[in-house]
Amino acid sequence: MTGLDLLAKTGSRGLFIGGQWRESSTGSRFEVRDPADESVITDVADGSTDDATAALDAAVAAQTDWAATPPRDRGEILRRSFEAIMDQADDFAELISLEMGKTLAEAKGEVTYGAEFFRWFAEEAVRIHGRWMQAPAGGSRLLTIRKPVGPCLFITPWNFPLAMGTRKIGPAIAAGCTMIVKPAELTPLTMLALAHVLTEAGLPGGVLNIVTTHNSKALSATLMADERLRKVSFTGSTPVGKVIVRQSADELQRVSMELGGNAPFIVFQDADVAAAVDGAMIAKMRNMGEACTAANRFLVHESVSREFAELLGQRMGSLRTGRGQSAGTDVGPLINADAVESVGQLVTDALQDGAELVTGGEAPDGPGHFYSPTVLLGVPAQARIVNEEIFGPVAPITTFSSDDEAIALANATEYGLASYVYTRDLARTIKVAEALQFGMVGVNTGLVSNPAAPFGGVKASGFGREGGFEGIDEYLDTTYVAIPG
Ligand code: NAD
Repeated sequence: MTGLDLLAKTGSRGLFIGGQWRESSTGSRFEVRDPADESVITDVADGSTDDATAALDAAVAAQTDWAATPPRDRGEILRRSFEAIMDQADDFAELISLEMGKTLAEAKGEVTYGAEFFRWFAEEAVRIHGRWMQAPAGGSRLLTIRKPVGPCLFITPWNFPLAMGTRKIGPAIAAGCTMIVKPAELTPLTMLALAHVLTEAGLPGGVLNIVTTHNSKALSATLMADERLRKVSFTGSTPVGKVIVRQSADELQRVSMELGGNAPFIVFQDADVAAAVDGAMIAKMRNMGEACTAANRFLVHESVSREFAELLGQRMGSLRTGRGQSAGTDVGPLINADAVESVGQLVTDALQDGAELVTGGEAPDGPGHFYSPTVLLGVPAQARIVNEEIFGPVAPITTFSSDDEAIALANATEYGLASYVYTRDLARTIKVAEALQFGMVGVNTGLVSNPAAPFGGVKASGFGREGGFEGIDEYLDTTYVAIPG
């Protein structure tokens, strides 16, 4: 079996609506390309706004029965799907690697991470409960009931084709919501394979609908103008997130926003520098730097900055770039030519602003969208690369001389998703974690993502949480029932 065989199992590369695979109403299709050599992998149906409405019709038709399905049954579908994904983990990894570019090892990591949302929410499905209490003044009872919010729209990005879907689909299934998923047009294949797994695991038709399209804007505008849609969960860039929040105003849909990041990675003078470099390799290079949690700015105390830069430069400089599916590849291609251009421009600007090139700084000649792992030292805090999401394998290092300066530099961004701190001092850890304006703080670790933890941001990184005990709340409404005593 290969990743493409997994796709062939669906019997279609069409839309999945009401439990059936079908072509787009216009009959049109669009191509999906391999970022390692720009060749066409396959094509998929290009869903229209009529198809989007048909998907919502199916989700609405399935909602009442699905909400009434016992929580244990909903959970068991997730549990069986978790097991099926893990049984086919190598094939899922290959499919992800093929369409997105990441190495097989990284893709396998995504499969484990992505599947785990199904296991976690299989267990949460049976723990949805309200409360029963006496009114403070005595007499009446206050009862609360938790109910599914109703049909949802999920829009996902290309960087984690499986996990960005399962973090929404898992809790929605657990809560009893039906849904329409619109995967990124650059990486739509994994989501089709996932629909097949969920169907085989017993998910009733209409609960999950998938509409692939190259025109996400028209799809979301059509669906969000429909009062039957009750919730939108979006993962992607901040500018598009703002558009969707504005669109949600007309029908007052509930919204969850997982948006961009600009994670600081702070290394204090008392840190274990070798451990900080290990953590930096993960925080920077996971997904070739194409992650919202990617360390975007290395803030390093001036007394250890040269040591940190040299060690990180050696590690980054020894990485081998290549096709994600080839043995020996450490770093795959970026997603497309625009990404290479944008990363290259940020590096050029930083060098013009006075940064020192420690390693990398090149885009090898094609084919494929590669950029060499790069380390820059002495990057001024006002450089563009420190203030914009890089989304590539570049580590800019800026120095600081006091805790207060480090905290001020870290918080000097519109974003507030992940942050990382390396120190061996407990008092400093607590002080800094409390002062950082970020939804997540990794202490002496380069990896914060965990399906059992609440993932999400503040400020321009959005609102709402995915995973953890909090993740299911995004899909539940509360009804309060007053009972006179
Ligand atoms: P993007 O915003 O361009 O696209 C995300 C999704 O939105 C895609 O499915 C796309 O088709 C769709 N889309 C684009 N324009 C739209 C519009 N006008 N209306 C409706 N839908 C639209 O982002 P991307 O380039 O796919 O992903 C990278 C971004 O995602 C980065 O900013 C990254 O930080 C962010 N991200 C955030 C998280 C998180 O959990 N916070 C996770 C992964 C990625």
